[in-house]
Amino acid sequence: MNVVWFKRDLRVSDHEPLASAIGKGPTLALYIVEPSFWREEDVDARHYQFLRECVMDLGLHLKKINLTLTLKFGTAENVFKQLHQDFGIESIYSHQETWNDWTYQRDKRVEKLLNELSIPWYQSQQNGVIRKLKSRNGWAKQWHQYMSNTPVDAPICPYGLTVPSDEFPSLKKLGLVENNYSDERQTGGRPIALQLLKSFFATRGERYSKEMSSPVTAYKSCSRISTHVAFGSISIREIYQSALMKKNEIYATTNPGSPWRSSIRAFMSRLRWHCHFIQKLEDEPTLEFKNLHASTEGLRDTDVHIERLHAWKNGLTGYPFIDACMRALRATGWINFRMRAMLVSFSSYHLWLHWREPSLHLARMFLDYEPGIHYSQIQMQSGTTGINAIRIYNPIKQGIDQDPDGIFIKKWVPELSSLSKNEVHTPWLTNISPDVYPRPIVDEKIARRDASSRIYAGRRSPEFKKISANIVEKHASRKQSHKSKTKKNIESRKSWKQEELF
Ligand SMILES: Cc1cc2nc3c(=O)[nH]c(=O)nc-3n(C[C@H](O)[C@H](O)[C@H](O)COP(=O)(O)OP(=O)(O)OC[C@H]3O[C@@H](n4cnc5c(N)ncnc54)[C@H](O)[C@@H]3O)c2cc1C
Repeated sequence: MNVVWFKRDLRVSDHEPLASAIGKGPTLALYIVEPSFWREEDVDARHYQFLRECVMDLGLHLKKINLTLTLKFGTAENVFKQLHQDFGIESIYSHQETWNDWTYQRDKRVEKLLNELSIPWYQSQQNGVIRKLKSRNGWAKQWHQYMSNTPVDAPICPYGLTVPSDEFPSLKKLGLVENNYSDERQTGGRPIALQLLKSFFATRGERYSKEMSSPVTAYKSCSRISTHVAFGSISIREIYQSALMKKNEIYATTNPGSPWRSSIRAFMSRLRWHCHFIQKLEDEPTLEFKNLHASTEGLRDTDVHIERLHAWKNGLTGYPFIDACMRALRATGWINFRMRAMLVSFSSYHLWLHWREPSLHLARMFLDYEPGIHYSQIQMQSGTTGINAIRIYNPIKQGIDQDPDGIFIKKWVPELSSLSKNEVHTPWLTNISPDVYPRPIVDEKIARRDASSRIYAGRRSPEFKKISANIVEKHASRKQSHKSKTKKNIESRKSWKQEELF
């Protein structure tokens, strides 16, 4: 049998491993639920629920090409050993998994076993991330090349194999605790991913570039496709190619001032950023655990300040906009980019918490958790990459800018619903009792000033600059080969660099 091992690619379209296995001969489609993965600190019941929905949907799509999905529960090594013993595996096909240290170590164990059993394992490139990349020069060009290639869809399988399947283990069996989710949480499965993309390109995306920064508008105006990308019910290449078609249509049918133009450009850039960030973790796996810039090691205590961490995690810091964002995230599994950055900035600067514990909490909360983007962004927003401008968000100003009427705050922090829009950003100046809503956990101005002087103090030495130069060489984004030289574009590229890229 030729086994297609589904991992973070739960679809039948744009799936080279599936097409290759079918072309080789009798095919088994396999998904493995691995118990020790679900015991890791960065995953949560919400991820498992979404995964189940995607896997069930994958099963339906596989049926259409004459394949039955086999589900196995156990370690990947044991599952492959048993399948080989019972049926004889000729070869295994999968995508390269560019995820975290756990999946990397598991893949090394599987590789060792398959070598011992003389079973070849063919792994196709998963997205724009390149394994064993030698240099960042020319990366963007290779990314565009990959995204432009025609996706390989699986044909009907002439020899679909079926073997006894396990049941989906319950949350309890995996040691996972069910979340109290709101109705706004996303559901898994390819039809939903396609529907999201359709509505984004039809109407929702028109004001994307203007409305992505405020949580009042972002839930509607962002694509919300990230979770589907993280589980692979749709590929980043499929999204890129649909976006390109939409871009061509926009440029053919709208005037230069149309909001669609800036929105589609901003959206397409972010598709590249997706792989740009994952490439960093691929090239520097220690990013998940250690500060990227060695001189920033020891900057913050690794001892957890339990009270601060608890208040931040539970939306009880006394800063309404921070608390509203955290509570919204916990309930829905999603929050927009700027608010993610602000939550990290608050924990890393105002609360001066080491980024590791907060990063695990956010990983559990983000339904779209993608380690490569996640840890790179967390480190960038915490000032430990050493090469980015320091950005300490003032939570009061952000609230006033992004939620001027306090609509979002009042939705998620109902304790403050009686306050006027002028009062809601600074409830400590009103007669709201601390028993109803806590007083600020730190003084914003003092905490920001202290953090700023601590972070800049370490940045002046020649040694710091030398390490930074090496980081730039290895990881930083390069200029785009297809860049336009207009002043506006140069300015907008500068602001991305500062805010969202390194
Ligand atoms: C601290 C922090 C942690 C983050 N962790 C994750 C994570 O675990 N998983 C994740 O997918 N994104 C993460 N992001 C990036 C970004 O916030 C999300 O990709 C985005 O909010 C997802 O919503 P969307 O699909 O509507 O995005 P859209 O704005 O519609 O963008 C489309 C796609 O582009 C990619 N993208 C968008 N913004 C970024 C970005 N800044 N960097 C890299 N790729 C981007 C995503 O794949 C996204 O689905 C993080 C950002 C920060 C500041």
